[in-house]
Amino acid sequence: MALETAAEKDRRSRREDRMKADIKSMPVTELAQLLADIGEQKYRASQIFEWMSKGVYDFEEMTNLSKNLREKLGDVAFIERLTMEKVQISAKDGTRKYLFRLKSGNAIESVFLKYHYGNSVCISSQAGCRMGCAFCASAIGGMADNLSPAEMLDQVIAIGLDVGGRIGNVVVMGTGEPFDNYENLCRFLTLIHDKAGLNMSLRAITVSTCGIISKIEDFGRDFPQVNLAISLHGPNDEIRSRLMPINRKYPMGELLKACRKHAADTGRRITFEYALINGLNDSPSHAEELAQKLRHMLCHVNLIPLNPVSEREYAASGRQTAEAFAKILEGKGIQTTIRRELGTDIDGACGQLRLKTLEK
Ligand code: SAH
Repeated sequence: MALETAAEKDRRSRREDRMKADIKSMPVTELAQLLADIGEQKYRASQIFEWMSKGVYDFEEMTNLSKNLREKLGDVAFIERLTMEKVQISAKDGTRKYLFRLKSGNAIESVFLKYHYGNSVCISSQAGCRMGCAFCASAIGGMADNLSPAEMLDQVIAIGLDVGGRIGNVVVMGTGEPFDNYENLCRFLTLIHDKAGLNMSLRAITVSTCGIISKIEDFGRDFPQVNLAISLHGPNDEIRSRLMPINRKYPMGELLKACRKHAADTGRRITFEYALINGLNDSPSHAEELAQKLRHMLCHVNLIPLNPVSEREYAASGRQTAEAFAKILEGKGIQTTIRRELGTDIDGACGQLRLKTLEK
């Protein structure tokens, strides 16, 4: 047989992996079951989990396991690993944008952000997005893949290794709609929170949704400590439906009702994201209308001056318009901030992340 080229070897190992268990997507309890199934001690599960969370991708490096167990694991399971294809570092603020290739050949983007209160990572939950929001780059190529729990987790692990520092916060605000990949999202949260792994507090995590109401209800029950952010972007159905097709299915009145219930049930403040678009949703009367709808809710509004996306025709509101909008909300007792955008020079800001299809 002729010698295998590197590309052939890579393809073969991917083919083989598809037949094996995705061990990095397994919570410790499931991993323990896998061990029991192959006649091994369950307590090994935390050890293996710990290695994977530290960024070990090869069973052979798990030195506290017997050689026999390492071989057995290699036969039945694989450890998910994203390929870091590219890192762009913002000259303005040190934001880093990563391009990771998935096994499917699609690629996703993730962002590392430095804030005064600590380091944050923004991860993608899908390759592409099906929600079709009119102003967002992520929707442009449609949806290609749901990310597995391990593919979500490995964005955090790989970035942690690259920057060599502790990641204080994770936001699920990259490409994709997390509630359109709900089960994998929940598993990811279980993985990242596990004491044997990254041990991240659920309160340090924020999940952002375009407003899939049925999942907001589930999420409040399943993960009441995780912060919820809602992409609102309009003060009424007319404007919101124009920008966000999801609003036709889940109109604003019902969405806000679900949000009120979520805040009341969990006792946690909801963040509403509102991208200010010149002449479209940024007038004083829009601010009044929004304030009226959010009255007495445990919430916070995060105004985002729209970030440019080359294929889209919308323009950002000016600073003064944003400040006037914020002032009206504040005047009605609604806590408001204008987001300081990081990473715009590398297209790493909100709405600028997109699906990249790479050659296989
Ligand atoms: N699908 C989820 C997660 C994406 S979060 C959601 O919709 O919430 C990304 C945030 O950036 C969302 O609030 C999104 O609406 C916002 N966004 C999209 N395009 C933008 C743009 N061009 N400028 C500013 N924010 C944008």
